[in-house]
Amino acid sequence: MEEKIKVLYVAGFGRSGSTILDNLLNRGEGFFSAGELCYMWDHNLPKNGLCGCGRPLEECEVWGKVLGEEGVVGIDAREMSRLEGRGVRTRHLPLALTAWGRRRLDSRLGEYANNLEKFYRAIQRTTGARVIVDSSKSPIYGRVLGTIPSIDLRVVHLVRDPRAAAYSWLREKLQPDRGEAGYMDRHTPVKSSLMWTVWNAAAGALWRGEPKRYLALRYEDLVADPRAALGSILALVGEGDPRLPFVDGREVDLGVNHTVAGNPNRFKIGKTTLRLDDEWRRRMRLRDRAVVTLLTLPGLLRHGYPIALSRPPGHSGSRGG
Ligand SMILES: [Zn+2]
Repeated sequence: MEEKIKVLYVAGFGRSGSTILDNLLNRGEGFFSAGELCYMWDHNLPKNGLCGCGRPLEECEVWGKVLGEEGVVGIDAREMSRLEGRGVRTRHLPLALTAWGRRRLDSRLGEYANNLEKFYRAIQRTTGARVIVDSSKSPIYGRVLGTIPSIDLRVVHLVRDPRAAAYSWLREKLQPDRGEAGYMDRHTPVKSSLMWTVWNAAAGALWRGEPKRYLALRYEDLVADPRAALGSILALVGEGDPRLPFVDGREVDLGVNHTVAGNPNRFKIGKTTLRLDDEWRRRMRLRDRAVVTLLTLPGLLRHGYPIALSRPPGHSGSRGG
């Protein structure tokens, strides 16, 4: 029997710093960061979007090969996208939280899960990686991965201050990965807050009860001490001897990656100093902050974020440990 496919799933909500985590983990020996694979079938593959290496997917040395593997060639992206509409959307989350609902979803998603198994197996064979990092973040997609018997799923739940996430969702950002020039989606503070709450609560509800395969990590702590954060992730996936020659304090050396979809930062390579992106503290409108703080209050408290809206005097916003 073939070895299980170890998948490290980054759960949480968008704009939480998962792209930097992807790029860091991709440097780990035996790791392959695949990016946000949940967008493969309805977006990136049909549009032949850009890989993190800068080439269109079908021309990339990794994805071109994966997509040409036996078992993957026959997967119909449109059918996969249709099946996602039957059980892999945020609206299906309530079903995923009850045993009865999960059975119902699983009965609809047999073919989808079978195809995903072939796809992840092809990624494992092509890259030779021991750990595939998938930073899709969507709790409902991660749940499907967890139902596939040959996948050994570990979950790192990456959380960022919801006011920082909401601020990022407000800003206009170029998205070069769309084939044609385009911008990333934007959300109002209310929508960001509700989605932050639902996706983070769902990730906790789905996996928090299994501490052997679940780790909660705050973006702020990752940036403050990347070596410590990566060390705990390596322990989670059972990869001993954590050699991290690419991390020196907060300076990290990022190499070429082959991530599918995600924040445009994924195209960044070379030496970079990790800095907390806390522009929201200076630039976000007080009203927007108040709305987000109020709507995400239980989550803020659970993840240890301060509620105070005032700007701490002379404080950079960095939160150590
Ligand atoms: Zn590539």
